[in-house]
Amino acid sequence: MVNFCSDNATGAAPEILRALEMANAGNAMPYGNDDLTRDLQAKFSELFETEVAVFPVMTGTAANVLALSVMAPPYGVIYCHENAHINVDECGGAEFYTGGAKLHALPGPHGKFSPAILKDAITGFGVPHHAQPAAVSLTQTSESGTVYCLDEIAAVAEAARGHGLNLHMDGARFANAVVSLDCSPAEATWKAGVDALSFGATKNGALGAEAVVFFKRDLAENFKYRRMRGGHLVSKMRFLSAQLHAYLEDGLWLRHARHANAMAARLADGLAALDGVSILHPVQANEIFARLPRAMIQRFLDRDFQFYRWGDEAGGEIRLVTAFNTPPGDVDTLLDAARA
Ligand SMILES: *Cc1c(COP(=O)(O)O)cnc(C)c1O
Repeated sequence: MVNFCSDNATGAAPEILRALEMANAGNAMPYGNDDLTRDLQAKFSELFETEVAVFPVMTGTAANVLALSVMAPPYGVIYCHENAHINVDECGGAEFYTGGAKLHALPGPHGKFSPAILKDAITGFGVPHHAQPAAVSLTQTSESGTVYCLDEIAAVAEAARGHGLNLHMDGARFANAVVSLDCSPAEATWKAGVDALSFGATKNGALGAEAVVFFKRDLAENFKYRRMRGGHLVSKMRFLSAQLHAYLEDGLWLRHARHANAMAARLADGLAALDGVSILHPVQANEIFARLPRAMIQRFLDRDFQFYRWGDEAGGEIRLVTAFNTPPGDVDTLLDAARA
């Protein structure tokens, strides 16, 4: 079945499944008091070239809303893009976990808000009638499959820091962004001013594991209570930690993302060459947003290709997502159908 719906329509990588089987041998202490979980601190600190505090969780939503819960008080404002996952796809989780902080949605083309738009929006300090600016969240890669370059992140961070705001990065597709930027994980985050990262693994080959990574470590002080109270202190945490270890081992995460991004580039190049196709956002990672002629979409549907209609459905807009294990043959099959 040719499926370009999303990168979480995939299974898990064999390396991850083997790590789970290894972790399954014998007993280990629960709730993160196991060796695999303890070793994650060193592993992530080495990866990011600085001392970090890392907390595995089950879902990207949990990573986002728990991270934000220590960055914004109940009367705080969290700035994000209007299409951000926290604003559109998490059922008010950020508001709930912060105890009522307000999301302030910023516009901007191609899924990104500009530092200037952010700067203008940060107002109301000290006025008891206004919720108080507290945090900024940017999504990397963005909801439109684009990537903030390092200068853009640094400029957003500067705007945030100038007012004492914390900077969160929703990195559900962090690996795809790092590969796209061709930089180190450190450069992509704390060196550009990011204070906490939701580090995604599930969409890039894990079975189900994400992590909250704090670069500003005093934010982590009370995190363990938030996580437990929120129902995300996983009792057999070694199985999350085992996945994260395997994910990072020998650069598996980057190989996966490189493949996914390459498949998206191949698909986008093939589509862009056809009459009547427009690519709606720059393809910088593993997602393609396109407007296609109706007959082409019909042909895809007739062939039982799976993908999401996205945005203006009547206008022929779709989204195609490639993954760590997308067979090149699937890309070519779809392109053949498009050409026909
Ligand atoms: C998928 C995704 C998440 C997390 O989703 P979960 O289903 O909760 O794991 C968060 N942010 C973005 C941008 C995503 O695409």
